[in-house]
Parts: sequence; structure tokens; C-alpha cells
Amino acid sequence: MRKYEDSYQHKGLRNKLMDQLRDKGISDENVLRAMNNIPRHYFLDSAFDKIAYEDRAFPISEGQTISQPYTVAYQTQLLQVKPNDKILEIGTGSIYQATVLAEMGAKVFTIERQKKLFELTKQFIFKSQYPNIKFFYGDGYEGLPTFAPFDKVIITAAAPFIPPKLIAQLKPGGKMVIPVDEDHHQRMLRLTKNEDGTYSEEAFQNFSFVPMLSGKNG
Ligand code: SAH
Repeated sequence: MRKYEDSYQHKGLRNKLMDQLRDKGISDENVLRAMNNIPRHYFLDSAFDKIAYEDRAFPISEGQTISQPYTVAYQTQLLQVKPNDKILEIGTGSIYQATVLAEMGAKVFTIERQKKLFELTKQFIFKSQYPNIKFFYGDGYEGLPTFAPFDKVIITAAAPFIPPKLIAQLKPGGKMVIPVDEDHHQRMLRLTKNEDGTYSEEAFQNFSFVPMLSGKNG
């Protein structure tokens, strides 16, 4: 049985990580507060317990990764999360990013295409603490038409193009944060949907993500 303990040592390392993120340019204190409240080591295999607060990505199961803390902070900051925002996340993975959004008071709808990772969400350790996260097994390219429209959409895998159905499921004035393929890296984009259904685009720095694949994998 995995032992869950958030010790003073973990808390201290977490505080230090928040300082590193500030040094790297993360300035939204709401994002940093949320991340400081969440024991990241609970989302990793216990073998990574000691290094969970290094600013790096780690493997989870099915060849997938938990994003680097800097990447999570960066995408969350770009998303300009407000309490009660209805947010669609593509790529549940370890549930860490979804938990950060939930901790900020958002209503989170998260989709995972890998059956095994989706099954693991049933044992999510913070299930009762975050009833504002809803888990779905499916293909993120399809979004969740039944629950649309969303205030925000966040994609946590590298998209080869901007998925049109996800634009359609965004509210006018809503924002999407998405890393889009460009040669050997991904460019972080923030799209804002206009009243007429078109969108405007802002481009930020490059990142590296696992690919956004189509179809379910069960
Ligand atoms: N947000 C995650 C990051 C996980 S990595 C976290 O905080 O840990 C990206 C995840 O996206 C992987 O789990 C991968 O299986 C999933 N993914 C890739 N393409 C997808 C798609 N089309 N629909 C849903 N999930 C997808």
C-alpha cells in the first residue's frame, strides 16, 4: 500500500519550488498558492518521493508524463483561471494539472484517451476533496459537446493542429491554451474566441509535450 504523508520536508521543498517558479517568471500568486497547497509527490510513484519537487517532468504509467511544474504553472497562468470557471482539460494523465485548476475553484472536466490512466482516476486520493473534477474516458479531439460551452480549454499534449470541435465548444470571450507542433518543439498559444466564432491568437515560448493522439486507447 502506498503511504501518503506530507511532511515538513515535503512542504519545505514545495516552498522552494514556488520560489524557483517565481524566479523563472511565474507571477500569478493564485497559481503559486494552489500549487503550494498540493502535494505533488502524491501524484507520482513513491520511488520519486524525494525528487518530486524538482522542476522536471516524470514518467507515469502507459508511457505518459506528469508535466514539469514550470509548464503547469505557465499554462495555468495563461489560462487566467477564475473561481467557477468551467474548464475542459485534454489529457488527464496524473490528474495533477486538473487538481491545480480545481484548487483554484474551477469546475474541471478532464478527458483521458488511455483506458488504464482513466481507470486510475477512480482511486484518486483527493476524490472527496475535489468534487469539482469530473473524469471522462474519450478522445480529446471530440471534446465534451454535452457539457459545452466552456469558459476555458487547456490542452496538455502536443497538438498537430488546433482542434476545430474544441474551438466550437468554447464560449465567446473564452480562452484556450494549447501547445501546437512546430518542427521539433511546440509553441504555446493562447486563443481567445471572438463573438463571431473566429479567434485571435497570441504566441508564447516553446515547450515539449507528449503527442495528442486521436481515438481512444483501451
Ligand atoms: N495533464 C497531465 C499531463 C499528462 S501528459 C498531468 O497533469 O499529469 C498528456 C496526457 O494526454 C497523456 O495522459 C495522454 O494519454 C493524454 N492524451 C493524448 N492525446 C489525447 C487525446 N486525444 N484525448 C485525451 N487525452 C489525450
